Formats: sequence, C-alpha cells, structure tokens
Amino acid sequence: MLQLPPWDLPAPEAAAAVRPNAAGLGLGDLGQLLSGLGEPAWRGGQIFSGLLRHRWTRWEQFSTLARALRTRLEAAVDLAWPAIVQSQPSEDGSTKHVFGLADGNQVEGVHMPYEDRVTLCLSSQVGCAMGCTFCATGQMGIVRNLSAAEIVGQVIVMLNHHDHPAGQPVNLVFMGMGEPLHNLEHLMAAFETLTHPDGLGIPPRRITVSTSGLVSGIDRMGTFARRPRLALSLNCISDERRARIMPVNRVWNLEALAACLGRFPLQSGERITLEYVLLKGVTDSLEDGFRLATFARRFPSKVNLIPFNPHEGSGFEPPEESRIGALCRQLAEGGITVSVRRSRGQDVAGACGQLVRDDRRQRQPREG
Ligand code: SAH
Ligand code: SF4
Repeated sequence: MLQLPPWDLPAPEAAAAVRPNAAGLGLGDLGQLLSGLGEPAWRGGQIFSGLLRHRWTRWEQFSTLARALRTRLEAAVDLAWPAIVQSQPSEDGSTKHVFGLADGNQVEGVHMPYEDRVTLCLSSQVGCAMGCTFCATGQMGIVRNLSAAEIVGQVIVMLNHHDHPAGQPVNLVFMGMGEPLHNLEHLMAAFETLTHPDGLGIPPRRITVSTSGLVSGIDRMGTFARRPRLALSLNCISDERRARIMPVNRVWNLEALAACLGRFPLQSGERITLEYVLLKGVTDSLEDGFRLATFARRFPSKVNLIPFNPHEGSGFEPPEESRIGALCRQLAEGGITVSVRRSRGQDVAGACGQLVRDDRRQRQPREG
C-alpha cells in the first residue's frame, strides 16, 4: 500500500523526505495518491496514461490535467524515473545504457532496434545471488531487488531516449542483471503496469522472463493467469557439470527442472525457450547436443544457442564457429526448433552475461 505523507503539516525537511514519486506507480496507487490530494481517484488514470502511454516526464506536459492541479503536483509529488548516466552505442545499432537509481546503485539495460520492432533487455536486480561461474553479473553477488518502478522506468527511459514511435512493437526480455524469479513480486507488478491497455499496452506474449532454473519461482509464475513467457537458462545437460557452473543445480537438478517445465501451464501454441550457453570444451560436445535434443522434446520448447560472450577473468571461451554450426544442424535434424543468439552490443559489453558495473562501487541494500 502506498503511504501518503501528512499533507497538512509540512515540516520542510520531513516533507522532502516523504515526497511520493508517481513514476512507476500502478493505477491503484496513483488513485490513492490523488485521493490523498483531495482529488477524485479516477484522475489517477489520467496520470497513469500520461506516464505510460504518452511517456511524459514533467508535470507541465500533462495537458490532460488542469493547470492548477499540475502546479499542486509539481509542488507535492516527484516524477522521477531512473536516470541514464551513461550510454554506449555499439556498431551493430544497439545501445547499452547505465541507469542511476535513487540510492546510488546502478543497473544496465540494452536497447536493440530491429526493422519492425525494438527489443529492450532489462535488469531485475542490482547484481545476482545465483553465482553462475560464466556470468559477469553472477560474480558481483546480490545487492538488492529492483522495485516495480525501477523496472518500468528502464522501459520508459529507453523508449524516450530513442524517440520510440508510438505503435511500433516493443519486446521486453528480462535477460539483463539479476534473477527475475528472485524478485517475482516486483516483476509481476511491473508486468501489470507494462501490459495495461491504458499505458504501454505491451502484449504479455512480447515479454520474456529468463530464469536460471528456480523451480519454486517457475511454479509460482505458472499460477498467474496473465504472465510473461518463460525462458530457462539450461546451459548444460549434465548434472555434474551444471552443478559446477550453476550452483542452483545443487538444489534443483535437471530432472527436477524437466518435471517443473512439464507441468508449467502453457497456453496453446506457447513454447518454453531453452537458452543454452556454449562454453568451449564444457557444454559444446555433440554428445551434449544429442542430450539437449532429448531434454527439449519433453515439453513444447525451442532452443536458443548462445555462444559464450567473453569477459575479463571468466576462464571460459566460446566454441569454434564450425562447432556452433554442427550443433545447430544436429538439433534441427533432430526436429528441434533452434536459433543462435548473435549477442548484440558485444563491443560495449552489453551482451548477455557481460552486464556488470565495472567500478564495482555498488552500495549495500537499504533497510526494509
Ligand atoms: N538471470 C537470468 C537472466 C539474466 S542472464 C538467467 O540466468 O536466465 C541472461 C542469459 O545470459 C542467460 O541465459 C545466461 O545463461 C546468459 N549468460 C550469462 N553469462 C553469459 C555469457 N558470458 N555469455 C553468454 N551468455 C551468458
Ligand atoms: Fe544470475 Fe543469470 Fe548471471 Fe546466473 S546467468 S549469475 S542467474 S544473471
């Protein structure tokens, strides 16, 4: 529940400390905020559309509201999205953005334009607790979860920065920093805001959440009637090796994962994406490819091969091109839908698993 500040007794410092922020609030919370200002709650809907559909970022832009109300909002309510503090365009057209959060932490997102759509890669946490040995984010540990507002904010700010034309489809992939299912509550709140028809109205099928394999989280996500698509970072098809590179496998092994994906309530035509990072000499043998195909046949799925993106000190290498081609052919001949993810933004360290703040000056989590 949104905590409303004491509007009628504004000690200036205290008022400054409790100023609410409208950016990223859901429809219900905006209604409450407006009620607290003595306005009808339905005006929260006008603000919601201004924030999410028009992507307005200053109260003066809210032409749907009376000037007097805009002035009151200006005085009492913040409208602060995460700020882009650094942008690195890549030769392939994608741009990695670093977002500064209110507490000084930073996360990263990537804007990837295609001919007919744009894909945004989003972060769900500052850092990540999962400790996958091949992943730069995993090496920094967990700092904290992102709020729903910070998740939604990455989308609004990237779309504004790139002057995204209304109507062009947007795909969202939670493949930036963090394990999204460790932050399911805020993730689903952000999902509701991002898919709401009065706002951006992004269709749920255009939103994909990638998990390292938190069975409890996958089961929970499966209970939502409206939810994102699921991608699983399988990455390795031997329990012994997977447990070495992905500690989560010591809690939920491949059999537990297959059982979980088998009971995941898919809609008609929906398939689970199996992401498979190709690490030379570790996950890229033809025997692995054979076992991967067998695993993938157990439920409706498609396989996405991701050649390892090198980063400093990882100790892993990507496979030879010829091996990538051979695995791809092997899977396709085995009847599996397969694609190879040519990671975008590799020259600016914006590709999968390279997202880490270089200075490692992350702050500690806040209380509460
Ligand atoms: N934590 C979630 C989502 C973020 S990682 C997850 O693990 O699924 C997004 C994808 O990048 C995952 O499939 C992960 O296995 C992959 N990845 C991580 N580090 C990588 C690297 N260095 N090269 C290629 N892919 C990597
Ligand atoms: Fe976390 Fe995903 Fe990286 Fe593993 S691969 S450490 S789950 S971000």
